[in-house]
Amino acid sequence: MALLLKGGRVVDAAAGIDAVLDVVVRDGVIVGVGEDLTIEKGQTIECAEKVLLPGLADIHVHLREPGQEYKETIATGTRAAAHGGFTAVACMPNTKPIADSGSHVRFIVDRAAATAAVRVYPIGAITAGQAGEQLAEIGDMVAEGAVAFSDDGRGIASAGMARVAMDYIKRFGMAYVAHCEDVPLAAGGVVNEGVVSTRMGLPGQPAAAEEVMVAREIALAELTGCRLHLAHLSTAGSVVLVRDAKARGVSVTCEVTPHHLFLDEDAITTYDPNLKMNPPLRTAADREALVAGLLDGTIDAIATDHAPHAPHEKELEFELAPFGTTGLETALSLVNTHLIATGTLGWAEVSNLMCHGPRAALGLPEMRLEAGYPADITIVDPEARVEVTPEWFVSRSRNSAFTGQSLLGKASDVLVGGQWALRNGKVVGQ
Ligand SMILES: [Zn+2]
Repeated sequence: MALLLKGGRVVDAAAGIDAVLDVVVRDGVIVGVGEDLTIEKGQTIECAEKVLLPGLADIHVHLREPGQEYKETIATGTRAAAHGGFTAVACMPNTKPIADSGSHVRFIVDRAAATAAVRVYPIGAITAGQAGEQLAEIGDMVAEGAVAFSDDGRGIASAGMARVAMDYIKRFGMAYVAHCEDVPLAAGGVVNEGVVSTRMGLPGQPAAAEEVMVAREIALAELTGCRLHLAHLSTAGSVVLVRDAKARGVSVTCEVTPHHLFLDEDAITTYDPNLKMNPPLRTAADREALVAGLLDGTIDAIATDHAPHAPHEKELEFELAPFGTTGLETALSLVNTHLIATGTLGWAEVSNLMCHGPRAALGLPEMRLEAGYPADITIVDPEARVEVTPEWFVSRSRNSAFTGQSLLGKASDVLVGGQWALRNGKVVGQ
């Protein structure tokens, strides 16, 4: 069965393409990209005014299964991913129980094979139970399909433990994904430490709580030669540290979230718990430094840190509510609204930041809009209007920091291995 995607703007920085072209897919594989292509029989999809990107990957999501299926499951989270234009996600191990063994990783791989709408790549825990005291079963997890390792959600307090972990993970050629937070220095802060925390009477965590750990992890990556990926960077100082490390040739990559790119602490005027995240929303100057990091290549990836929570958990006082916002369904629209439509970035850069960069950071299979690659394709309608209402979400949870916003542009269709995961804006098989 052949599929002809006709007359869309095909953009792929790795393939060096930005032109109005046709794409032919057969048996799940791209077999042709060019002008005036035809197929003998099959389906033709008109793509005029659409942008075709290589399948977007979100390398930082919390799917909550096993253990917290009332927040999200592999089935619902991957349908939310398809709704947002992603063809792949990498899921963090802080489920219940924590994914710290081969059998836990096998469970996720098997559940994904049975229920997922997009590709799922499990990230295993670095330490047993993410307790920071002894290494998890890294080798067993690699054998069962883990693609990287992280104690995301808390990080590793001991530098000695982190060094042992990097020495070990390096042997498998995989990435150590760092959640950079010095917990005693963060001191239970629920917002950024500064003018806003003082004005609102909320405990703050200083930028330094992130930056000291970024500096430590970079030093340890230099010491061990392990591949280091820094999750959800949020401060101007972190960007400087990574920029300097890259200039020295350290094997480091990093990601930022849409909420840190497009919101700052001044948004927290209403004590809305959906604006409580870790790391917290920072200052306008931090936000600007993150955007500058996107532009100069310091930042490799946009990743959402999709963190679903149930209403009974989030609808609490700000200090008591859990950290996190959902992100899978709004990321691409936010990028289009704030970066593409404003002329800050082009689609080629977005193909790097949402496809090639994140995939390279974790060593995931490369996707390109070229003959011979799997047909993982994100089709964007850049003119579509999105009203972000609670009902609009496909995720099981509604705790979005962007509810109420009106955004521009959205994925209209998503192909995963030649199969529709999203068609005409509707998630397939929902
Ligand atoms: Zn984290």
